[in-house]
Amino acid sequence: MIEDNKMRLTFCGGVGEVTGANFLFENNDVKILVDCGLEQGTKYCAPKNRAPFPYIPAEVDFLFITHAHIDHTGRIPKLVKEGFRGKIYSTPETRKLAVIMLEDSMKLLEKEAIHEGLEPLYNADDVRQTFLLWETIPYHTKTDIGHGLEVFFKDAGHVLGSSMIEFTRNGKKIVFTGDLGNSPTPLLKDTEKIVDADYLVMESVYGDRNHETHEERANKLEDVIEDIVKRRGTLIIPVFSLEKTQVILYELNQLVENDRVPQVPVFLDSPLAIKITDIYREMSQNFNDKAKADLKRDNDLFAFPNFHITTTSEESKHILTYPNPKIILAGSGMSNGGRIVHHELNYLGDSHNTVLMIGYQSAGTLGRQIVDGVKDVKIFGEPVHIKARVEKIDGYSSHKDSEHLVQFVEDDAPVAKKVFVVMGETKSSLFLVQKLRDYLGVNAYHPKEGESVLLDF
Ligand SMILES: [Zn+2]
Repeated sequence: MIEDNKMRLTFCGGVGEVTGANFLFENNDVKILVDCGLEQGTKYCAPKNRAPFPYIPAEVDFLFITHAHIDHTGRIPKLVKEGFRGKIYSTPETRKLAVIMLEDSMKLLEKEAIHEGLEPLYNADDVRQTFLLWETIPYHTKTDIGHGLEVFFKDAGHVLGSSMIEFTRNGKKIVFTGDLGNSPTPLLKDTEKIVDADYLVMESVYGDRNHETHEERANKLEDVIEDIVKRRGTLIIPVFSLEKTQVILYELNQLVENDRVPQVPVFLDSPLAIKITDIYREMSQNFNDKAKADLKRDNDLFAFPNFHITTTSEESKHILTYPNPKIILAGSGMSNGGRIVHHELNYLGDSHNTVLMIGYQSAGTLGRQIVDGVKDVKIFGEPVHIKARVEKIDGYSSHKDSEHLVQFVEDDAPVAKKVFVVMGETKSSLFLVQKLRDYLGVNAYHPKEGESVLLDF
């Protein structure tokens, strides 16, 4: 039994690691989940995803989704398959993106399962059923969900539609941050402030590192492109389809249209990223003021001379025949699946080429090996000796860095009773916990996976 003025928070996933976010918030009356993400490691789907949930899905009343990235949504159809029939809520933008993200993810999971002789995690019916349960709440709309609970979505500034989810009950407030954007970003509005939360459950992907400034990152990108033109090579950039792709296209658009780099062919070789970029175009009313002003001068922020999209696999294979120099953007962002892996097989063994890493790379992924400087890797079972240059720009991260995470908590520090630091590798989370305690004097804590805490709520 949980006392009337308490709620129990359990850290079911996304603790001690970046992916697999899953938090249970409950009392005797109601069970709420926040996010139900896929864990991603060596494989697209880490074996841990196959294990049963540490709660009974049929008993869960609500599932709230912070944003459409697969590490926050990728196990929802499994939850539905295993009996969840409650309500799913997110912003309308998140729902729209999740439809294509989950369809794509389902295909990758199916392919991987067939390859390994396993049953797929879920199928098209489970995905369809998921969206029958999925409703939307716009930003800044106070919503009573019964049981004395109110919910409110604030803009997290991380990807289109991303939200921080606030729950209020008995005059107490808890905020689940989801992922926090690297504001200011070229397209999205800034992360909103949190000033009155009793409890924060926050991400810490870059809890122990700072990014380059926005100016440094653009200069570095320009240098990498100029270098590849000089060496007549191929530049490959593993990108996440949601947000990272659109930010890089925006920056390439700026570099090309301001004549800062030559008009080399640029290929966006990802059907998913192409679809998501179209959704960004459609939903540009969500952009920040600067991007809206840019749109008045340039009616397409994501296309420029010599830019090509390749949807079919034939078109994708044809890129190989294009003369150098050229630039290829493809997913997945961590090289644990998708077309990028084919390009890595083709291009990493040649010293004329460069691979540019611009996102977080999960432990165990090919992307992590590359960024860690491993020279001999296996791609589709074939040994590859990496001779291509490996460059890295953290500034394109869509996550706040250590300094900005501390700044984010600062506004809430005078009232925060406890700050739970999760969604990061342990080292990163612990580093941030220490910083929050030292700089702001807040009661910061890094829970263990599976740990439960009782909150006054
Ligand atoms: Zn995210």
